[in-house]
Amino acid sequence: MKFETKVIHAGVEPDPSTGAIMTPIFQTSTYVQSRPGDHKGYEYSRTHNPTRDALQNSIAALEGGDHGLCFSSGLAAIDAVIKLFNPGDEIISGNDLYGGTFRIFTKIFEKYGLKFHFVDMHDVSNIEKYINKNTKLIWAETPTNPMMNIIDIEGVSKIAKANNIIFGVDNTFATPYLQQPIALGADIVMHSVTKYLGGHSDVVMGALVVNNAELADQLAFIQNSCGATPGPQDCFLVLRGIKTLHVRMDRHCDNGRKVAEFLVGHPKVDRIYWPGFEDHPNHAIAKRQMKSYGGMISFTLKGDNQEEAFDIMSKFHLFTCAESLGGVESLCNHPASMTHASIPREERIKNGLLDSLIRLSVGIEDVEDLIDDLKKALG
Ligand SMILES: *Cc1c(COP(=O)(O)O)cnc(C)c1O
Repeated sequence: MKFETKVIHAGVEPDPSTGAIMTPIFQTSTYVQSRPGDHKGYEYSRTHNPTRDALQNSIAALEGGDHGLCFSSGLAAIDAVIKLFNPGDEIISGNDLYGGTFRIFTKIFEKYGLKFHFVDMHDVSNIEKYINKNTKLIWAETPTNPMMNIIDIEGVSKIAKANNIIFGVDNTFATPYLQQPIALGADIVMHSVTKYLGGHSDVVMGALVVNNAELADQLAFIQNSCGATPGPQDCFLVLRGIKTLHVRMDRHCDNGRKVAEFLVGHPKVDRIYWPGFEDHPNHAIAKRQMKSYGGMISFTLKGDNQEEAFDIMSKFHLFTCAESLGGVESLCNHPASMTHASIPREERIKNGLLDSLIRLSVGIEDVEDLIDDLKKALG
C-alpha cells in the first residue's frame, strides 16, 4: 500500500458492532468481564483502548514499523524511552535539540544516574569518540529544532548497529511522509504528535514506533506502568488529522520553499536555515533521506538584535506568535526566549541559536498572503 493510501486506511477498520466507518471514540475507562479474566481483550483504558489501538496501528504503518505506542505528550514518549535504561548507562544525543528534550535529559534523568553526552552529529564520525561499554542509546533529531541541521540517519544507524546500541530518531519535523527512519536503520521513531501528525493545533500527544517485539513489550510495559497515555477523544482527533497528512505536507513544503526564497537577499535578514537550499551544509543528505524539505524555516537578523526580532514578530498578522508548530496555520516563535529558554545562553550561542533568531512554521494558507505579511513586518 502506498503512503497516500495508508494515511486513509492503515490501522483503521469499520466498527464491527455498527459498521461506523470512522473509529468511534471509546470514551470508557473499563470493560465488562463476564467472569474474572473473561473479556474481549480490553480490561482498563490505561492499558488498552480501541480508539488508541487504531491510532497506534495507523502511526506504526506510516513509519513502516510493527508496533506503535501513543503517549499523552511527545515528552512522555521520550520519558518512556529513557526509562528503558539504568543508572550508569550513557546516552549520546545530538547537541541541537528541542528545548524540552534537553530539559528532561539534564534536569530529570541526570539525577537518576544516567549520563548524557551532547554531540555535534553534523559529521557522524563525531559520535564514535563518545562510545564506551556503558553507551546504550543514541538519540537524534533531524531536521533539528530550530537550527534545521540534518543528521545522516543511515550513517548513525551503522555506528549504532556496529556497537550494539539502540538508535532513536525524533521524526517530528519531517513526519513519515518526508522521512522514514526505520527503513534507514533506526530502532525507535518518536513523534510529538502535537505537531504535524495532529496538524490542527488542537491536541498534545506523543508516539513511538518500533520494529522489534521485545522492545515494543518493554515500552508497552513502561507505557502502562507509568501511565502517560492519551485519552480516546484526542486519539480520534489525530486519526482524523492523519488522513490529510500527505496533502498538508505537500503544501507546507511548497509554501516553505517560497517563503525561504523570499527571505534570501532581504536587507534585514542575515542567515536563513532551511535544508532545501543547495548551500545548506548537509543538503546532500537531506536530499537523499527526505522526500522534500518541509515548512520549518529559521532566520537571524543583521546585527543580531533581540528587540528588533520582537518588533518584527509583533507586526505579523498571519504568522501568529506562539509556541508549537506543524499546524495548518502559520506560526512564528522566538526560540531563545520561548521554546528553547531552558537552554543556557552560552550553549545556545555556540550552536548558532542567536538572540535574533526567528523560527517560522509555514502553514498552508495562500503563500502570497504569507509573503505579504513577512514583507510588511520586516519593513
Ligand atoms: C514539540 C516537540 C517535542 C515535545 O513534544 P510535546 O508534544 O510538546 O511534549 C519533542 N521534539 C520536538 C522536535 C518537538 O518539536
